[in-house]
Amino acid sequence: MTTTRIPDRAEWLAAIPSLALRTRLFIDGTFVDARAGRRFTTENPATGQPIAEVAEAGPEDVDLAVAAARRAADDGRWSRLNPGDRKRLLIAWADLIAAHNRELALIETLDSGKPISDTATVDILETANCIRWHAEATDKLYGQVAPAPEGIVATITREPVGVVGAVIPWNYPALMAAWKMGPALATGNTMVIKPASYTALSLLRIAELASEAGIPDGVVNVVPGPGGSVGEAIGRHPDVDCLAFTGSTEVGRRFLRYSADTNLKRVLLELGGKSPQIVFPDVSDMASVAANAAIAIFTNMGENCSAGSRLIVHRSKREALLEALEAELERWPVGDPLEPASRVGPLISRGQMETVLDYVESGMGQGARVVTGGEQILRETGGYFVGPTILDGVRNDMRVAREEIFGPVLSVLEFDTERQAVALANDTPYGLAASLYTDDLHVAHRVARDLRAGVVGVNAYAEGDNTTPFGGYKLSGFGGHDKSVHAHDQYTETKTTWITLRPRD
Ligand code: NAD
Repeated sequence: MTTTRIPDRAEWLAAIPSLALRTRLFIDGTFVDARAGRRFTTENPATGQPIAEVAEAGPEDVDLAVAAARRAADDGRWSRLNPGDRKRLLIAWADLIAAHNRELALIETLDSGKPISDTATVDILETANCIRWHAEATDKLYGQVAPAPEGIVATITREPVGVVGAVIPWNYPALMAAWKMGPALATGNTMVIKPASYTALSLLRIAELASEAGIPDGVVNVVPGPGGSVGEAIGRHPDVDCLAFTGSTEVGRRFLRYSADTNLKRVLLELGGKSPQIVFPDVSDMASVAANAAIAIFTNMGENCSAGSRLIVHRSKREALLEALEAELERWPVGDPLEPASRVGPLISRGQMETVLDYVESGMGQGARVVTGGEQILRETGGYFVGPTILDGVRNDMRVAREEIFGPVLSVLEFDTERQAVALANDTPYGLAASLYTDDLHVAHRVARDLRAGVVGVNAYAEGDNTTPFGGYKLSGFGGHDKSVHAHDQYTETKTTWITLRPRD
């Protein structure tokens, strides 16, 4: 986080014409056109207006990018650098990203609709922090010596897997890429990364900054394009050794199939969620619970895998909490994401907006009541705005409680006993995040242990930080974690070297 002043809307608007957008594929350290010459239009979801034409990769471009990454992996220009040198280059890159915070935040907001107050204080700086955190670990990771028999030296060392493919969603375009790039590059791998088509622009510029920082050509390659062709081509490529994916559970399953049908590449999946927030009857500070509950679901317009979309509140506190939430929403203005006061921008696309509104309708059809929101607003902008929405009277068998909406829609459910609360919270196919609010230490520890989720926040909505692993149980994840040194596991192979010593004469 930074405390520096965020420029006002007029300053951001004035900066747009001088943005030099990178719109071509980044392969082997150079921007190139797609082999087939195709381009696609990326638009600003706050206005519905086009921003740029971006080169659209095809499978033949994936082949070129993978070949570049393979050469860079095999000749050791990255993996065999002294760890201290790899660290220095990655930190130089992180510093450059942070130095370009304003430019990258503006690109991210224009391309994704994320509020500039988030992109300028969180997304880009956290992207830099994440890369820096893993870089700093580069020369602090040790191997092991096994307790082998006399006359044997057995070492257990970690080696890069080789070429890592990464396929990234549109909700945190730079940061989700960093969660893969930080640990994969720090452990000596090379990469081919496919951003989501809606949001390719920030990553293309960040890749260019990697070159400026001195990271060798071929180490970071970026190929924007459709999931069905480019994503699949990376997923099936025989020269990709590991595939790191963040996105929907449905697409995540495909990557397991791609791997099973081809070279059994490692697959790491960070998927969707339907995260519960449980409010126990003893909580004393309802305003704080409401503030956290709002952050959990309305940050990033609810387009967040760990969004706390099910608020499970004790029957005796439901009304007080709804009142506190309505008061809290005064602090969540919806509007132009370039206006620093806006905390809620547009959804990513017209299609996503329609999906969200369909869910609200389905909830109402099944008996839920809209307390606030639930409709498109600010139509005159041409953008895809839906305000914070609260659905009361939700049952856990309704679609709005079972399926990931990926929008600013909070479902409110009631419970009577602790057992019931835990059962409701766990009654979901997902298991990414959960939070609970209580002043009772015993309840906090008991329930945190019972919740089947990868990240549990107590008395605050929390995802941890770079020091803690992030990943989901059940349909929320597979094969590893993002963040922390645990993220290094999936990007490294474990090697045993068994050395037989010649006996002394
Ligand atoms: P998505 O699954 O539709 O797309 C993600 C990426 O996969 C995109 O780059 C897309 O082009 C690509 N893709 C789509 N179809 C493909 C195919 N057939 N083969 C290969 N690649 C394909 O997800 P999205 O809509 O971009 O993002 C929203 C989803 O991401 C939500 O479910 C959300 O919960 C999840 N998410 C999870 C985390 C996490 O860390 N667990 C973080 C952010 C988002």
